[in-house]
Amino acid sequence: MKHFHIAIVGAGPAGYFAAQALQNSQSEDLKFSIDMIEKLPTPWGLVRSGVAPDHPKIKTVSKVFEKIATTEGFNLFCNVELGKDISLAELQEMYDAVVIATGSSRGKKLGIPGEELPGSLSAAEFVPWYNAHPDYTGVEVDLNCEEAVLIGAGNVAMDVARMLALEPHELDPTDTAEHALENLHKSEVRKVHICGRRGPEHAAFTSPELRELPKLEHTDVHIDEHQILAAKKRAESQGEVPKDVKSNLEAMLAIAETVKKNHARSMYFHFLATPLEIKGNSKVEEVTFGINQVKDNKVIATGETFTIKCGLVISAIGYEAVEINDLDYENGRVKNTDGRVIGTNMYVVGWAKRGPSGVIGTNKSDSTEVMQLLIQDLTSPKPVNNLETNLASKGIVHISQEHWERINAAEVAAGEPFGKPRKKFVSQQELLRASQV
Ligand code: NAP
Repeated sequence: MKHFHIAIVGAGPAGYFAAQALQNSQSEDLKFSIDMIEKLPTPWGLVRSGVAPDHPKIKTVSKVFEKIATTEGFNLFCNVELGKDISLAELQEMYDAVVIATGSSRGKKLGIPGEELPGSLSAAEFVPWYNAHPDYTGVEVDLNCEEAVLIGAGNVAMDVARMLALEPHELDPTDTAEHALENLHKSEVRKVHICGRRGPEHAAFTSPELRELPKLEHTDVHIDEHQILAAKKRAESQGEVPKDVKSNLEAMLAIAETVKKNHARSMYFHFLATPLEIKGNSKVEEVTFGINQVKDNKVIATGETFTIKCGLVISAIGYEAVEINDLDYENGRVKNTDGRVIGTNMYVVGWAKRGPSGVIGTNKSDSTEVMQLLIQDLTSPKPVNNLETNLASKGIVHISQEHWERINAAEVAAGEPFGKPRKKFVSQQELLRASQV
């Protein structure tokens, strides 16, 4: 029987699904011990710090993660930072294989004038801020303005738009970070604009997210019906309309046709609008957009512009991976061939491998495929090294699965009196205290 030791760096969905694929491949002849290493004191990655708090169902996948984590041979090492507490070279030396599952956490830049003004943020800062990520509690979020602009026509822009446009009491029974909830209750934002540079037929939203919008109880959602009908015509002129595009356009039409209720809060979709400049004296005051048109299936500028006055701009235009020393990157992801980091015993899964695309479930098939290659490449096991001893010898205190379960239970108990799924601890100190490490 061969017993291999695998390190997985990053405790998000891609990392857990990689561990699950290894666990499922075990047989009488093949056994795995898996050490999962995570920089934060808590696991679950985007399921904890990315998924919108008003989408609790998506977070139920954490039950799968906990099942994987409590399977024999799995060890969790949270609060351990790669490059600081342990190097990649050490891991490569200690383990038969190292799986990089560190995601893409840096927001892409618009690269337009005014992007650095106060009041202009990336969703890569705003989302972890409202989700209680310890590194983002200090993000300056000024909601003291009536209008906010979201740039990007994807699901992250949509999540952020809902968080800004919902009646804050709707967020009370969620696990939104307390500091964010307090700020959202005081928010003066009443109009949220979502702006996509291409047409409705090119939007990256998925239709279940669009179909939720007419059901919002305290927010009117506006989409120009003529724009959607024109997009439908253009899409149909190109032959058979892809299923997802058809479904999106139908969902957008349903939004356009929904009777508005004169709510104090509203959301407006703008398509064919390229952000050109963010203007303001000492903070964001307005965004100027170039108006585009679709000609021969190409999006081109008309040369005309329009402006939205606002005090907050959030760009949600995709992410790139934060570089880890000793790994090569291209196009914002780890350089790899089908997940193999060629010439090493390293593999990469999730957004760090393929870029920021797909839903949580996409990582299951993706990680499984990469783990099949990893298993094919294994030869004979290395002598066993003990990560716990290694870290302890350096005085590093890690959070194990048992410690995490204490944090988890304490958060759930703290949320219970308020009807919340949990009340998240935010600071490193609070988390360490709750872990009783
Ligand atoms: P995304 O789906 O790739 O959307 C990015 C958007 O930004 C696109 O509309 C893109 O337009 C636009 N964009 C890119 N560069 C731009 C620029 N320079 N100026 C203006 N617009 C620009 O990315 P995302 O919203 O960050 O989502 C990432 C992934 O997570 C997606 O797969 C998404 O479905 C998933 N996600 C899922 C959920 C959910 O299931 N509920 C929630 C959140 C995220 P072009 O198309 O023109 O490039």
